[in-house]
Amino acid sequence: MPESAKAGMFEKTPTFSFEFFPPKTPEGAASLLETVERLKAFRPAFVSVTYGAGGSSRELTRDVVQRVQAGGLSTVPHITCVGHTEAEIADILESYVQSGARAVMALRGDPPQNDPSYDRSRDVFQHASQLVAFIRKWEEQRKLPFRLTIGVAGFPEGHPESRNRLQEMEFLKAKMDEGADYICTQLFFDNHAFFDFRARCRLLGISAPIVAGIMPITTLKGMHRMATLSAGTNFPARLLKALLRAGGDRESVERIGINYASQQCAELLDEDVDGIHFYTLNKSRATMEIYRNLGINNYFDVDRIHNLSEIQKLQS
Ligand SMILES: Cc1cc2nc3c(=O)[nH]c(=O)nc-3n(C[C@H](O)[C@H](O)[C@H](O)COP(=O)(O)OP(=O)(O)OC[C@H]3O[C@@H](n4cnc5c(N)ncnc54)[C@H](O)[C@@H]3O)c2cc1C
Repeated sequence: MPESAKAGMFEKTPTFSFEFFPPKTPEGAASLLETVERLKAFRPAFVSVTYGAGGSSRELTRDVVQRVQAGGLSTVPHITCVGHTEAEIADILESYVQSGARAVMALRGDPPQNDPSYDRSRDVFQHASQLVAFIRKWEEQRKLPFRLTIGVAGFPEGHPESRNRLQEMEFLKAKMDEGADYICTQLFFDNHAFFDFRARCRLLGISAPIVAGIMPITTLKGMHRMATLSAGTNFPARLLKALLRAGGDRESVERIGINYASQQCAELLDEDVDGIHFYTLNKSRATMEIYRNLGINNYFDVDRIHNLSEIQKLQS
């Protein structure tokens, strides 16, 4: 791992981090700030803010980044290259850096769904690896006094467009070779898929931190939406059986989703995951419940995970 990344966000692993999306209404913005306040108590290594997905614009992402950054948290704004020129990407990077961000998540993005005029062949970058290379070039030309930490996406169960899973891993490696510092995965419900993905990365010589993306199911409607958005994510029978037992009862579904995600997190931590990234959907409840199920009540508990000698001092 490059020294800068090790000394920065991943100085202490496992990291805990949260993902937010930019709200479109004042009510949504107020609710997000409340969520940020609640989750801040756990002093996450970083919080990331999505871009473009769901129609969010660069201004919305930048506004959230500014507010969150002002609240003392390190932000990782996302940037996608679909539909953008080099100049636009440079502008976005500049605005993120001006907002105080020192890291960025570099993604290709997905083509806009309802825009028949969109012509992908006109995109300046076809793949995220080219975006990573551009960001490194930009920061050099811009003579930034720091090195941006760059995250990229990984897909434990395969990217839905890939027809060749071996080649897909080579494309992931290309993103790292161009200068990415860490991988954050697509959400998954099958830890074996994650462990196998991590092992495949290590076989390819990727030693960078691999952060596991976790999204607890809180409603059945949300689960169906998630199944569409995170195309390719597998829903294991064990999870589906538990949900069937709940028979559509809202409270039971939420409890099952949170318990399932808690078990996933516990196993990931036992197996020395580099980090856990919660897809929060701008809400704090499920994430806080998971923390509680893991026995983590505040930041000091998070910190203790790193230090076995703390066990001597513990008394119940
Ligand atoms: C953690 C995470 C956060 C995300 N955040 C956002 C967000 O904020 N906004 C948003 O719009 N989307 C977001 N996405 C979705 C993402 O943009 C899409 O999944 C997109 O389809 C893939 O992005 P990528 O960066 O992995 O692309 P790439 O790495 O470019 O890969 C896309 C596809 O192209 C293939 N490929 C890569 N390189 C080559 C090559 N040289 N030749 C041929 N094929 C190649 C890959 O195997 C893959 O199938 C996120 C996804 C994840 C996992």
